[in-house]
Amino acid sequence: MLSGHDWQTALAAVAGATALVVIIATIPEETPDHRTDEPAANGDLPVDAALEAIGEPILVVHHGRVTVANAAARQLLGSHIVGEDARVAIRHPGAAEHVADGSSFPVDLVGLGTLDQRWQMRVSQLGPDSRLVHLSNQTGQYAAERMRVDFVANASHELRTPLASILGYVETLTDEAGEDPALRQRFLGVVFDEARRMERLVEDLMSLSRIEAEKFRPPRTEVDLAAVAREVRDSLLTTHGNRGADIAMDIADDLPRVPGDQGQLSQLLYNLIGNAMKYGRHGTPVTVTLTPRADQLSVVVADEGDGIAPEHLPRLTERFYRVDAGRSRSLGGTGLGLAIVKHVVERHRGRLDIASAVGVGTRVTVTLPAIRDRDAASAAPEPLS
Ligand code: ADP
Repeated sequence: MLSGHDWQTALAAVAGATALVVIIATIPEETPDHRTDEPAANGDLPVDAALEAIGEPILVVHHGRVTVANAAARQLLGSHIVGEDARVAIRHPGAAEHVADGSSFPVDLVGLGTLDQRWQMRVSQLGPDSRLVHLSNQTGQYAAERMRVDFVANASHELRTPLASILGYVETLTDEAGEDPALRQRFLGVVFDEARRMERLVEDLMSLSRIEAEKFRPPRTEVDLAAVAREVRDSLLTTHGNRGADIAMDIADDLPRVPGDQGQLSQLLYNLIGNAMKYGRHGTPVTVTLTPRADQLSVVVADEGDGIAPEHLPRLTERFYRVDAGRSRSLGGTGLGLAIVKHVVERHRGRLDIASAVGVGTRVTVTLPAIRDRDAASAAPEPLS
């Protein structure tokens, strides 16, 4: 039987969550048996209830057998584990050894639960023959770390490709090709295009990091999205194969303003309309519709291009994800446009939906919270530059 002090040690061993400290403080120093479902007479929490309430798996192993398993542990390892040999219950060779040794350093486990899960196990000594086993789910941190590593690798690769091309052409220009005016002109054109590609990439990377840095600071200035949309349309008129004439705008008269960051919303529209122009067929319409919807405003950008197969749709907003990398690059794409759109929408507490049908076209809808009439007086208008 573990004493109140042992239980306090046990719970204190479970990674120092603040909530836990509060629970420990309410556990009596010495009671005959904490492991009861009844609340303690003095109103304190019984230890089992406290363990049960902890969201991460916790086991107590006594003489090599599992004597206590909280709800999270039973869910991960099975409801039958209480009473089982710890090696059978945990079913992981490295973990079983660790529990038997009672070594206190944390160990990372792969293969517990589902295949993609990563767990960290800590073992603490409760008494000569008792151990407390705490499993903490590291899957989220692991995935975030993987994404960060992949992102750095992808960004480096995307920058190195045009850089290698620039270096190659400059080297050739300093040799014999520099003598031939026509060849020199052509090579300088390539160098310029590749340098522009690097510039676009660096600009998009900087935008992404700026938007991410402001993620938890909702924008508060009052933005006239209709005016921003017209400005973006004007700036795109002669781009993407001169498709300006294909852009059709349908903007409701009674459009409310939105609390927003004008630069970021302009970038969102620029990327969406730009994509519709790039990936849509020449001569087919690119429609931009702005409509009020209750307390919201919806922006729809639709094209009649080749469309996107359904299996790609969930991944389009990942950084550097492209359906056809060659086509994207030849059209000047960085692979970051929709990732930027997603982050801008998140910062504005909005919603992004991408619907597409192969051979029919693509329709992207962004819904943003609007400023209601009664809010308007308190929001500061932002002048259009
Ligand atoms: P990119 O710079 O490559 O255009 P985005 O992040 O803007 O990068 O888009 C990611 C990918 O999604 C594109 O490479 C393209 O394959 C696809 N895509 C985006 N918009 C459209 C569209 N309107 N029609 C068809 N495919 C699209």
